[in-house]
Amino acid sequence: MVKETKYYDVLGVSPGATEAELKTAYKKGALKHHPDKNAHNPDAAEKFKDLSHAYEVLSDPQKRQLYDQFGEEGLEQGGAGGGMQAEDLFAQFFGGSAFGGMFGGGMRDTGPKKARTILHPLKVTLEDIYRGKVSKLALKKSVICGGCDGIGGKPGSVKQCAACGGTGKRTMMRQMGPMIQRFVVECSDCDRTGQVINERDRCKRCKGNKVVIERKVLHVHVDRGVKPGHKIDFRGEGDQAPGVVTGDVQFEIDQQPHPRFQRKDDDLFYHADIDLLTALAGGSLNIEHLDDRWLTVAIAPGEPITPGLIKVIKGQGMPSYRHHDFGNLYIQFNVKFPEGEQMQNLELLEKVLPPRMPQPQPPADSMVEDFALEDVEEGREEARAHGAAMGGDDEDDDIPPGTERMQCASQ
Ligand SMILES: [Zn+2]
Ligand SMILES: [Zn+2]
Repeated sequence: MVKETKYYDVLGVSPGATEAELKTAYKKGALKHHPDKNAHNPDAAEKFKDLSHAYEVLSDPQKRQLYDQFGEEGLEQGGAGGGMQAEDLFAQFFGGSAFGGMFGGGMRDTGPKKARTILHPLKVTLEDIYRGKVSKLALKKSVICGGCDGIGGKPGSVKQCAACGGTGKRTMMRQMGPMIQRFVVECSDCDRTGQVINERDRCKRCKGNKVVIERKVLHVHVDRGVKPGHKIDFRGEGDQAPGVVTGDVQFEIDQQPHPRFQRKDDDLFYHADIDLLTALAGGSLNIEHLDDRWLTVAIAPGEPITPGLIKVIKGQGMPSYRHHDFGNLYIQFNVKFPEGEQMQNLELLEKVLPPRMPQPQPPADSMVEDFALEDVEEGREEARAHGAAMGGDDEDDDIPPGTERMQCASQ
């Protein structure tokens, strides 16, 4: 996702390197190529300069962002170049002395703060992901006020808050019986900012807030086949504030449930209800796809579809992200049996279907009783019947009622 990798290559790390990895790589390289150690080798000085420059850029979150996005060009345009000399950086990095100084100066702590990232779930349908689309999203964000360039008032109008001495906090004292309690409160005169601007000097546009709320429309590309949870970054499109690196906006693909299809990676799953006649004697099935097409699926006569059977149509799943070959469409069949009163001439079935399976026959001298089947009552009995049929996955279902109580009593 970065425009060029030159600086990363110089340091010998990948563009995804963490700050710690950058630091380690720079430390290693700098020790190796430091001019003091390579007086006989003029190339080392050049290498050391490159190394230091690469690290200077990549260790600064703002510069790294510019570099990732626009390459070296971006650094020049952004005016972020220049700055520290290689030697200075090295000294700072190793705590002032070239070799053997303290490691881990915490460059980040001294770097500019960055405004928060605005996170935004992006609700998309399966149709959107199948076809791809561009979502236009309006966003409200803080931008530096153009009326005062983020000062909040006329130049020179910003004064240190007298009430808190510019700290934004005030120490209060309170008599608690014989004790005096000291506690710190936020300064209300300056609203914690440490600065005040005289009412009449305040910028008319932002009323002294330094930022104004602006509406911006972002075009978010939902790529074909994108996965749920995928994040789309808009660097530098977040909130602005004086003295702070502009924040980012991040959208996260939130795939909405679909009424017809379930998605698993690049495959689609579809539940098809078919009647018993179609299941046995053939017919066809119409499926509305995600791109206005309808799939007509032939069910061959004489190849019975059993309840729960899964068949596949190859290549009719989702497009895969970036590659755009397609997953499969799996169809699971639910065979609808007819109601009793819907059937006539049942005796004709005997000409169509194989004969009844032979039953185990009782020996000649056994007692034989006749029974009729009854419907299972709603509720517990049904739950038990299902539990048994499922093989008793849930152990509790297998314990007859009252068992637990008896165990307790015996303890
Ligand atoms: Zn104050
Ligand atoms: Zn203003």
